[in-house]
Order: sequence, then structure tokens, then C-alpha cells
Amino acid sequence: MPEDPIFKLLNECIADQDPTKINLSVGAYRDNAGKPWVLPVVKKAKAQLLADPNANHEYFGLDGSARLILGPNSSAITSKRYTAIQTVSGTGANRLAADFLSRFRPATVYITNPTWGNHPKIFGAAHLPVVEYQYWNPQTRTLNYDILLDNLRNAARGSIFVLHACAHNPTGLDPTQEQWKEIAAIMKEKDHFPFFDCAYQGFASGDLDKDAWAVRYFVDQGFELLCAQSYAKNFGLYSERAGCLTGVFKDSDTAQRARSQFMALVRCSISNAPGFGAKIVDIENLKTMANRITLMREKVYNHLTELKTPGNWTHITSQIGMFSYTGISVKQVAAIKSKFHVYMTDEGRISMAGLNESNVKRFAEAIDWVVR
Ligand code: PLP
Repeated sequence: MPEDPIFKLLNECIADQDPTKINLSVGAYRDNAGKPWVLPVVKKAKAQLLADPNANHEYFGLDGSARLILGPNSSAITSKRYTAIQTVSGTGANRLAADFLSRFRPATVYITNPTWGNHPKIFGAAHLPVVEYQYWNPQTRTLNYDILLDNLRNAARGSIFVLHACAHNPTGLDPTQEQWKEIAAIMKEKDHFPFFDCAYQGFASGDLDKDAWAVRYFVDQGFELLCAQSYAKNFGLYSERAGCLTGVFKDSDTAQRARSQFMALVRCSISNAPGFGAKIVDIENLKTMANRITLMREKVYNHLTELKTPGNWTHITSQIGMFSYTGISVKQVAAIKSKFHVYMTDEGRISMAGLNESNVKRFAEAIDWVVR
């Protein structure tokens, strides 16, 4: 099988000996010195766990928590219309959702064009037909909103739509609240099933509640839905593989039956999810990460403006979350890699977290050079 494109790019970058190389490939947060960051609150939680004389490594059950995504006062929680199960990070939550839907609510799965590279593979692996719906307009570098709505209207009744809860990967472009409302209205009319993938809660705005707005709105509108959560990015717990799949259903009886099916599915795949990361999850340090990324967006934009780089670059600051879809071509990506040792995906996506005070100017110069 061909190597995964992201890991291939990463390995190429690791092997590059040039001291000025810039790694903008993988979506993993870096601090201003370009180093991985262990959140102070995670360090603290870890120290507490290690110091606790009663801490142990027992199995600790399969249920997860829906409070972070739905909000502690969600009507779905108070009326027990939900179920949540721990998964192996976001990928595991996506796969569990795909297997569940494949068995109990099979339909064509619509994914955004473009999307996280694993979406088509995961739903394909669960034997569901996968097609794209339009999301990004390369000409305007904004949401392809009218076509998106047409795609929603024209999809067969009862289709499954994969929605990025916030900080869309790879474009860094989310619908506005008004647009979400219109999307929800059409989905309701057409009886489409919402599957939210939430890998960056907190990264868009620095606020966990704000970033859960779309999911909570759909819950309030009475949808049955699934939501996959990754705690890799927002807690910096990438390799600890903490995640959760939450389902909201029409009543508590359906939720209980769904819970038993979630349990049956995980029992024959992973059984217990990894516990260390799940025990560590806390919420303090998101703002630091979101703010530094926003600052880097501004710096890229300001440098490009100073350099009088041809073209409109406002999308760099209007996009949100960890990624930016620069809009440069495959050829330009390759040219920048070979001249400047800057690594970004072929479609021109950069992980903003790879930029810092010492490399952001050179990155802007590389963009300036390649578009001239
Ligand atoms: N979903 C999206 C949209 C992502 O971008 C990612 C990671 O890049 C994931 C899910 C899952 O990542 P993980 O399995 O590391 O939690």
C-alpha cells in the first residue's frame, strides 16, 4: 500500500538536514520555540496521578463523558437521551461511529470536499458508500455555501453528513451560526443524519463552549446524532489516545440500546480504551494555544502585506483553528519545499502551529517568492 501522505511528508521533513527547515505538515501544536508543549495543567494532573498512593492500573469501564461536548446542562443529558463511550482518540471514535452506522443506519456518507484524509478510508472500511459535498471554493477561498446547500438538498433522503464541529480540517473555515442554522433546517427537512467530527474543540475560539455551538444547536433542534471527539489536540495528549463517541437519541430507551451496541462493538475491537490520557483531561490551557496561533495568522498576513505579495491574503486571518488552506498550488508547494525547506501538504494546507516568531517571516518570504 502507498505510504500515508502525511506521514510520508513528515518523514521527508525529519530526514531533511537543512537547519532552516519549517515543518507545517502534521496537526500538532508547537510552542514559540517550535517544540512540543506539555500543558502545565497536564503536568500537574500527571504529578497528582503519580503521587496518589491509591492510583492503580485497573480496568475502569467503557462509558465516556458527554459533558464537554454537550454542556453539563444539556437537555440530552438531563433527559438521559445520550450515551457516550471512550474510544482510541478521534480516529477510534470515527471508526466506531462508522461501524455503528453501517449496522444500524446504513446510508451514503457525505464528506466535505476537501476533508481530513482518513474520513473516506474509515467510512469505506465500514462498507458505507462515500461521496463528497462541496465545501471550499478555491476561487474565492471561502465556503462554497450555495453549492453546499444544493448538495444537501439534492442528496437522497436520509443520507449521513459528516460535519466538522469546528476548525474545519484542512480549510480552517467554518460556517457562521446563521449558516449552521440553514444547514440544520435543510438536514431536518431531508431527514439527513448528522455525524459531527470534533477534533479541535477549543482551538477555534479558545473557548470549549463556543466551539461546541453547532453540535449543541443540532441537539436543541431535536436531531438524533453522533459526535466523535478527540482529546489529542485540545489537551496535547496525542499519543495517549483519549477520545469519546457520544450519541444523542430520541429517547432514553433508544440511548440505552445504542449504549449496549457501542459496548458490543468496542468489546470486540479495543475493549477498554487507554486510561492515562482520559484521567488527565482538564481544560485550563487552551487559550494559550489558540492565542498563539491567532497571532501567527496575523504575522503571516502582515508580512505578506509588507512584502506587497500579489493576491488577497485575508483568508489567512479569517480562517480559524490549527490549519490554514493557503490556496497555493501543488507546483508551488513543491517549489517552496525544494527552495525553502518548508513542508506543507500538497493541497497547500499548513499547520499554523509550526510557525513561530523565528520562522514566520521566512515562511512569508517563501510564499511571496513562489506567487511572483
Ligand atoms: N478528525 C479530524 C478532522 C482530524 O483532523 C483528526 C486528526 O488530525 C482526527 C479526527 C483524529 O485524530 P486522533 O485520532 O489523533 O485523535
